[in-house]
Amino acid sequence: MAPPDDRARRDAAFATLMATVAACRRCPAMEGRRRVLTTANGDIDAPIMFIAEAPGRGGAERTGVPFSGDFSGRTFERLLGEGGWTRDDVFITNAALCNPQGPTGANRAPSRQELTNCSGHLRATLAIVDPPVVVTLGAVALAAVGRIEPHGLKLTEARGQSFAWYGRTLVPLFHPSPKVLAWFPYVRMVEDFRTLRAVMDGAIIPDGKEVVQKE
Ligand code: SF4
Repeated sequence: MAPPDDRARRDAAFATLMATVAACRRCPAMEGRRRVLTTANGDIDAPIMFIAEAPGRGGAERTGVPFSGDFSGRTFERLLGEGGWTRDDVFITNAALCNPQGPTGANRAPSRQELTNCSGHLRATLAIVDPPVVVTLGAVALAAVGRIEPHGLKLTEARGQSFAWYGRTLVPLFHPSPKVLAWFPYVRMVEDFRTLRAVMDGAIIPDGKEVVQKE
């Protein structure tokens, strides 16, 4: 737990960041979309931050809460439980904070430019929450954190392992979407979340370095 004055300083910094994001107009295609960065993303004292790709149309764009209200969100919550966590224990955000939609209104991947535009918000969120462990969900999120500090990792080779990165531990995992679950079984995602728990508990040492425990 952070000292009270440090917590107050970080609360103020997060309030400023939320206001900046709420007013952000960097991506023309995101006009009218919800900016999904609020206190509902989690506790800024959380020792672990999950970073996914972008809010989904049927999920966070509708509910305002990352990973809620759709299939991926329900799967993610079950996986969190497998690791022994609830939402209250973690902080969740996205590489792009608005829901990208194609011409038909369906979800699309954020463009390279949108990810670049949103990179500063992700960097600022990392600085405020300062989590000892960062978990990326999917290739887009892994590439997005590589813009903040290059890591040279490929998801297919790095999945489920832990790496020293940016003064903390990085664990790349697959995104719990229906598309991924079509070829990567849920039971293997469960194994990954249990391994993640072992990383958090200090039972697995990334790159020969200790996991920094949050005070
Ligand atoms: S995706 Fe990020 S950079 Fe783009 S408008 Fe939304 S908050 Fe701003």
